Amino acid sequence: MSPLERNGAFHHLPFTVRKVSHIMATESHVNPFTVAQAQFDRAAAKLNLHQDMRAMLREPKRELIVHFPVEMDDGTLKTFTGYRVQHNLNRGPGKGGIRYSMEVSLDEVKALAMWMTWKTATVGIPFGGAKGGVICDPSTMSNRELERLTRRYATEISAIIGPYIDIPAPDVNTGSREMAWIMDTYSMHNGYPIPGVITGKPIEIGGAEGRGSATADGVVMCIDKAVEHLKMDIQGARVAVQGFGNAGQIAASLLHQRGARIVAVSDTHGGIYSDAGFDPDSVQHFKHEHQQANKRGTVVGFPGTKEISTADVLEIDCDILIPAAVENQITGENAGRIQAKLIAEAANGPTMLEADDILFKRGITVIPDILANAGGVTVSYFEWVQDLQRFFWDLDETETRLRKIMTAAYDHVAQMAAQHDVDLRTGATMLAIARVARATELRGVYP
Ligand code: NAD
Repeated sequence: MSPLERNGAFHHLPFTVRKVSHIMATESHVNPFTVAQAQFDRAAAKLNLHQDMRAMLREPKRELIVHFPVEMDDGTLKTFTGYRVQHNLNRGPGKGGIRYSMEVSLDEVKALAMWMTWKTATVGIPFGGAKGGVICDPSTMSNRELERLTRRYATEISAIIGPYIDIPAPDVNTGSREMAWIMDTYSMHNGYPIPGVITGKPIEIGGAEGRGSATADGVVMCIDKAVEHLKMDIQGARVAVQGFGNAGQIAASLLHQRGARIVAVSDTHGGIYSDAGFDPDSVQHFKHEHQQANKRGTVVGFPGTKEISTADVLEIDCDILIPAAVENQITGENAGRIQAKLIAEAANGPTMLEADDILFKRGITVIPDILANAGGVTVSYFEWVQDLQRFFWDLDETETRLRKIMTAAYDHVAQMAAQHDVDLRTGATMLAIARVARATELRGVYP
């Protein structure tokens, strides 16, 4: 029995409480690379892309699998598996985060790498797409174990990363601390500081002002454009956020500051709901305090809210929904019950193809991941430029340049979508594929 059923509280909630665990288990096994390729096929067909070009772009250029030992604190050795995939490098060096999770798989990394290619092309920054990950559960590891794992993984993939080859960044369960270790490891191998090998670093060692909030900033900039188009208002809008981490928590905070009402948020442990809304900064504080106390930091239990499941957050009565957790959350099964008018994908790959069709038919606008969350990679691009030049900008300059890139990208995507009468995802993917295909054509096929 769910806590809601126990409390007899669910009749107060603006959605139907269901047993979703079996549904989520099935859907979460959908291969993200199959989803990424299906999205590609759809956009490539709309573009009438030549079959040879389709064959080239629908597979990654390079896939590296590494198995490596790490000494644990008790003196034993544990062997971990990691990946680095470069999907396409025709427009510039690879760019994409590193994820630590037990769910990491080669196909997940391949999908994420492909999405990075389209993302950097959608916002028009000179990178290709790449991604990395290690199968591990950081919540069960000490800081020293994580440091040894990170440094060894960085060493294993160092043959194919570098400031002019492939520049990793943070993703789920990695942050500025891991990026500092990777920068240090790579620099020690070469004998001098090479900050441009990685982005998302602490400011003190070549990080950029504004990188921490960049993904959420970009999400909110896209929401600004969409609400203008939909004649909605951020002030007073009801917002639900699935995933209360770097992207989701900061997006909630920024929208709250703008007068939106945050009614539901969730993390891996569950979700919370309040019709009156709550202050996401206080929720973050609450989560942090619990993390200090028992290592299980969660939003669940925040005073004045009701506990709901993490899947229920998606179906709550709200105006704006921000999936900011993991892939395959909005499915053919639950898309019909989504109540938001606008979905802004802070997460990568949260919506499955059949869900896209249902949402499009229902008139729900989806700002796709490759546009909505591109603020992160755009400020990573700024960080890389600053590292190469050893010349650093202030926050104002970062924000002004970010807004310029995000709003232009939104306009280009909306134009493409309107021209071909497709949803924003297909419009964005078409725009991106056309740019990557053109770069490939111009460079020609070697040798
Ligand atoms: P994070 O680790 O900081 O936060 C992830 C959050 O999602 C955590 O609160 C976690 O508890 C929660 N979560 C995980 N699985 C969940 C599930 N099944 N249901 C509900 N909540 C769940 O990670 P992040 O950096 O915020 O990344 C989140 C998403 O945004 C990922 O898809 C990532 O690829 C994407 N993204 C992040 C950035 C960035 O700069 N951080 C940039 C672009 C895209």
